[in-house]
Amino acid sequence: MTHILHDAHDRDPHEKEFLQAVADVMTSVQPVLDKTPEYRHHGIARRMVEPERIITFRVPWLDDAQQVRVNRGFRVEMNNAIGPYKGGLRFHPSVNQSILKFLAFEHVLKNALTTMPLGGAAGGADFDPKGKSDAEVMRFCQSFMAELFRHIGADTDVPEGDIGVGSREIGYLFGMYRKLCNQFSGVITGKGLGWGGSLIRPEAAGFGCVYFAAQMLAARNDTLEGKTCLISGSGNVAQATARKLIEMGAKVMTFSDSSGHIYDEQGIDLDKLEFVKRLKNIRRGRISEYVDQYPDATYTPTTPEMESNPLWEHRGQFVFPCATQNEINAQDAYHLINNNVKLVCEGASMPCTSQARTIIMDKGILYGPGNAANAGGVAVSGLELTQNSIRLTWLGDEVDSRLKIIMKGIHDTCLAAADANGHPGNYFIGANIVGFIKVAEAMLDQGVI
Ligand code: GLU
Repeated sequence: MTHILHDAHDRDPHEKEFLQAVADVMTSVQPVLDKTPEYRHHGIARRMVEPERIITFRVPWLDDAQQVRVNRGFRVEMNNAIGPYKGGLRFHPSVNQSILKFLAFEHVLKNALTTMPLGGAAGGADFDPKGKSDAEVMRFCQSFMAELFRHIGADTDVPEGDIGVGSREIGYLFGMYRKLCNQFSGVITGKGLGWGGSLIRPEAAGFGCVYFAAQMLAARNDTLEGKTCLISGSGNVAQATARKLIEMGAKVMTFSDSSGHIYDEQGIDLDKLEFVKRLKNIRRGRISEYVDQYPDATYTPTTPEMESNPLWEHRGQFVFPCATQNEINAQDAYHLINNNVKLVCEGASMPCTSQARTIIMDKGILYGPGNAANAGGVAVSGLELTQNSIRLTWLGDEVDSRLKIIMKGIHDTCLAAADANGHPGNYFIGANIVGFIKVAEAMLDQGVI
């Protein structure tokens, strides 16, 4: 197995996020590789870490001052052995091939875990929608789609949102696709409710994350009721996580964005959450404005030079990182442990560094890995595609109850796989093994392609 890591490293030594994800996954599926020599003979792991296709393209657009701007667009199509490529589009200045390869690789396993027929992909651009006018965002999205449309399709590759790509961007992207292809299909998920979207899709990753946490707790005769919770982020996943936690009786104390975090000792209730939703989704403001509205709360800025994030120094029994990759490092993990954290459940993809995850798991803290815990988002994307295919819109309750069933299924299969492979209670190893085997078996059946 180490030769797979070495080869991946030799090939792309600078892709640190991708190499991190490959090392994390391949180390945890080692027991399966050891007992299944066919996987080695058929080069399954070696093929899985090499994207089937990467598309890189120029995205030129005119800003409001009529200046030409140029960004770089990507789509990493990682694996479609079990279904069309599926995964988000991220618009953020940090976007590069390493980050998208890590996200696409995570999607291969995560999507398999949902039990839906979905392959894995990820894409996006190093474009920052922050501070841009609606017209600039529209022109950018149209230019981005003017190239991407050739590579996607409802049965080929189905994008969705991710950081920096919300309902506004999905609307512009879908509009341009529809015009270029003269076709109305389910090609993108996260669509508006009036034009093919699914109820509960915007909430799915956050709700699913809380359902997963509730399952981990139920397996230990515990609940969310009355527990203090720290959430990072303030976007779609963080908002829905907060809502479900509040509904299930937990006390949410924090939100953050890339500039800092707020801490509300009284707890964030549904009214305060509504304020955050308007602030972030409609006014596109910063989380610091929370304290103007609720002066009893505190705001603490963060800067990139800080070695740890002061958000993780607060006392919270349960922690839901819902912002971005590697947002909890080893030092943050020690702060959480010193404050007696009991559960970490990941709404974001790979929010813990490998070291932080090891520190947390070694302490026996309940740990819900993003691959499993945030799979509700892509699962409901799958349900959106199903509704598009049968030309029906299900009621919110129906989608939500399917989501609950899927999250329970993911929880139970992860636990069973961890047990069967000698790591009882280890959801991280369980999740990677279940996703890996499902894709590996399909690849075996389909030959070396
Ligand atoms: N970007 C989201 C995720 O990571 C959604 C992906 C999708 O639904 O295709 O789960």
